[in-house]
This record gives sequence, structure tokens and C-alpha cells, in this order.
Amino acid sequence: MGYFFVDPAKVQGDALLLGRDDGRHLQHALRMKPGENLRVSDGSRYLYDVEIKGYPNGEVLCAIVKQHPFPQRPGPWITLFQSIPKGARMDWLVQKTSELGVDEIVPVYMQHAVRIFGEAQAVRRQSRWQRIAMEASKQANRLDYPHVSVPRSLAEAMDHGANASLSLYFDEKETLRCLKGIRRAVTHPESIRLAVGPEGGLSANDRVLLGQGHFLPVSLGTRILRSETAGTVAVALVQYEWGAAPDRGRSP
Ligand code: SAH
Repeated sequence: MGYFFVDPAKVQGDALLLGRDDGRHLQHALRMKPGENLRVSDGSRYLYDVEIKGYPNGEVLCAIVKQHPFPQRPGPWITLFQSIPKGARMDWLVQKTSELGVDEIVPVYMQHAVRIFGEAQAVRRQSRWQRIAMEASKQANRLDYPHVSVPRSLAEAMDHGANASLSLYFDEKETLRCLKGIRRAVTHPESIRLAVGPEGGLSANDRVLLGQGHFLPVSLGTRILRSETAGTVAVALVQYEWGAAPDRGRSP
């Protein structure tokens, strides 16, 4: 079983409390009883071996048996700026890139995107995507999980992670620059930002904004991929080129 994720604010002394979603899963699906053991991660600093003590108010009260610091991460920090594809395709992208080890997902509105959410709906989407990212990370046996931001315009997104070692955007019109070439020039980036355009393609204005944000255009080859395919492939290729000792993000 993978790691359960605890909000660091819910760790107190030698006890911690997992939320109601985990409570339902543990109590009713997995039928775990008080006295049984779990592995828990706070997502960034500590891993815990715990023993279930009970299910007060549907939450999971656990006693900490052992605490370990997080192992050092071997690969670059990966942030994906993804133009939001239609409906369930964004759910799919969040799930797959979480499995592949993305660290942050910033959903963005680009000029040719299908729709822009109202404020309340944007917040609801964000929490849905965040939940999908956590479930996928748990299933993938990750120690951490990606943070998903509230959707924003490309212009607003450009400040995010502006000190990254490398920023790339995937451009269907690019013919020269490819990841392999960049790999030769940049050997150990600490952090990489990736941007992927919408189904309708990047606009001239999107390209200007990305250029001003110091993103370089890169090709993914001669075939045109759907936006969510491109985002997923981009994360996989970056992991392959720069990542990921094979055990990156897995249990110690
Ligand atoms: N409608 C456009 C394609 C958009 S594909 C057209 O027909 O030209 C959606 C996004 O995925 C693109 O904006 C780009 O970011 C990425 N993408 C898809 N295929 C790509 C490729 N071969 N190289 C680089 N980026 C690609």
C-alpha cells in the first residue's frame, strides 16, 4: 500500500490525523482496524510509520511509531503550465502526470482555449484536480504529491517559478529545437518549467508572453499531439532525459 498524505498542520506531538476521505477508504473499503499499521507522508518533510488508534468523527487518529526525514530528491523539480483541455481530459492529464512525477501543475488559459471558468468554478476544479493528483500519487507509491494551482491566464502564470533553471514551451510550429539538443547543453537543471498549448494551437500573443517569460520553443516531433497527450509526454520525456534515477520518488 502507498503512502497516505497528512496535512502537516494535523501532526501534533506523537499523533496525527488523516482526513475523512482516507477514513472512509480505510474503514469501509480496506476494513483496517485500530492496531493496524500505515505509512504516512506529510508531502515534503517527514515520513511516518503509524498505528491506527480509531476513527473519531470519520477521521483517522494515528499514533506515530517512527518518523523519518524525506530522502533527497534526485531529479529536477518539474512544473507544468498546461492549457486546460476540455472536460475529463484535464482529469486524465492530472492523473497521468502525477503518476509520472510532476511536482506542480499550473492550469492556464491561453488565447485559443475552449473556456474560462468563473471564480467559484475555478476553485471547485482546482480542488477536484488536487484530489486526483493526491490519489494518483498514492497509487503510484510516491512520497510526495504535486500541487495544483487555481487556473489563471498565461500572463498571470508567467511569474510562477520565474527563477527556474530551464523553461521550455512545446510549440507545434518549432522545427529545429528538440529536447535531446537541450539535454546536451543543460546537464543538471534544478528546476524545469514546461508549457503546453491548447487544442486550437498557440497564438502569436501566447508566443510573445512565453518568450518574455524566458521560455524556449521546443518540438515534440512531426506529429501533432493533443494538448493533454503533449503535456503527459513532455513530463515523461523530461523524466527520461534529466530525471529520475529509477527510484525517484519511490519508497525508501
Ligand atoms: N491545433 C494545432 C495543434 C495544437 S496541439 C495545429 O493543428 O497546429 C496542442 C499543443 O500541444 C500545442 O500547442 C503544443 O504545445 C503541443 N504540441 C502538440 N504537438 C506538438 C509537437 N509535435 N511539437 C511541439 N508541441 C506540440
